[in-house]
Amino acid sequence: AEQKLTRIGLAGLAVMGQNLALNIAEKGFPISVYNRSTNKVDETVERAQKEGNLPLFGFHDPESFVKSIQKPRSIIMLVKAGAPVDQTIKTLSQYMEKGDCIIDGGNEWYENTERREKEMAELGLLYLGMGVSGGEEGARNGPSMMPGGSIEAYKYIEDIVLKVAAQVPDSGPCVTYIGEGGSGNFVKMVHNGIEYGDMQLISEAYDVLKSVGKLSNEELHQVFTEWNKGELQSFLIEITADIFAIKDDKGDGYLVDKVLDKTGMKGTGKWTVQQAADLSIATPTIAASLDSRFLSGLKDERVEAAKVFKSGDVFETENVEKVKLINDVRQALYAAKICSYAQGMNLIRAKSIEKGWGLTLGELARIWKGGCIIRAIFLDRIKQAYDRNSELANLLVDPEFAKEMVERQSAWRRVVCLAINSGISTPGMSSSLAYFDTYRRARLPANLVQAQRDYFGAHTYERTDVPGSFHTEWFKLA
Ligand code: NAP
Repeated sequence: AEQKLTRIGLAGLAVMGQNLALNIAEKGFPISVYNRSTNKVDETVERAQKEGNLPLFGFHDPESFVKSIQKPRSIIMLVKAGAPVDQTIKTLSQYMEKGDCIIDGGNEWYENTERREKEMAELGLLYLGMGVSGGEEGARNGPSMMPGGSIEAYKYIEDIVLKVAAQVPDSGPCVTYIGEGGSGNFVKMVHNGIEYGDMQLISEAYDVLKSVGKLSNEELHQVFTEWNKGELQSFLIEITADIFAIKDDKGDGYLVDKVLDKTGMKGTGKWTVQQAADLSIATPTIAASLDSRFLSGLKDERVEAAKVFKSGDVFETENVEKVKLINDVRQALYAAKICSYAQGMNLIRAKSIEKGWGLTLGELARIWKGGCIIRAIFLDRIKQAYDRNSELANLLVDPEFAKEMVERQSAWRRVVCLAINSGISTPGMSSSLAYFDTYRRARLPANLVQAQRDYFGAHTYERTDVPGSFHTEWFKLA
């Protein structure tokens, strides 16, 4: 039978694509789906039937897939970033017509999106790079989406994404047109960098509570469950609480204790830190999280090093009072998190200025309130901070956040000192604290660095009292 044309297409039916396609169909938009390996097409069609006879139509060949979609066509791709995206574009674009649009929903490097947008424009096709966050569950039930590129193309899919995105009461769907070019991918990249920071900070809180405070998994479960009711309430704190309660399915005890301490990664954290360096933006907390992943990967070396430094894993510290420690760590975690978000936001702003994207930071905080991995009650406070002052130089100096930092700094310092004395590394919490302590001081020892630079390299220096550029022949005076 002749089938009616569908509203949209989706190519790439792994975890993300399959679930996003079902979500789109469930919201009432008939969708065509395609995947290079056809077994995933059949799997998706089967799920669509099982999950309520959803209007989803599978195609085994790219031509009939493309031709099944109403014009102007919109096709979302969710394939591995990099070369697979170029290959998929090639496969699909040969059947597409002027005015049609391709949307990359993957974690793509933003410059690849900008290159493809130009290439597609030569064929008369529109292009969007749309970061999607929320993993499998988000894709199925409501992700946070960050579409950037052609605004005209965004209009093609606006009605769909507004319905498919996570819906946050009083704050709307977690999607907005981000800006031109690769801005959607860039914002998603920094989102992931912030996610690295959050996960690292939580793991440090865990380490201090477990290794110094001697909390059991049951106690950790309770602590994180409690934290999730307050200012730290977030998806990552919630799943962390869950993790501590899950028993090992292959033996005794808890599963978390059996998981190998070696972190994987796919590149978005590294790109974030590289971009920060390119733009001269300090992101020490995110960089510390990345370094921690690198060091975690050296499992064999660490096992050997532990034999060299026989002093034991943790140095015993006296007078650790559990209840006080838990409260201190809670405050340290929150303060360190504010610093990390301040860094990520400043990176986005710097890039936006460089590229002329005109991004609005408060609106980004809004679309991260639901659906995505970093969703948290705290993002509403960030949105409010930028609503109060869109020119805010740094989240730390927003009056509300400044007050919260001041209230927490003693506890935060106690936790970092305790960790240092115990031989527990807390690179995220410590870097955040160093960031705060550097940023809040009117005068730094950078005067000495400038003097040294002028001494050996005649790089000149400025003075605190007289304008201009100065050089001294220091060695003659020494
Ligand atoms: P993935 O494992 O990154 O990619 C698998 C998909 O890519 C399959 O559909 C595969 O097709 C296709 N593919 C690979 N090489 C190809 C090629 N040369 N030509 C055509 N197709 C090719 O899938 P995913 O985890 O669902 O992620 C999709 C995108 O979303 C990625 O950019 C990922 O970084 C991003 N993302 C993932 C998550 C997550 O939680 N997984 C969250 C947010 C964003 P075959 O089946 O034929 O091999």
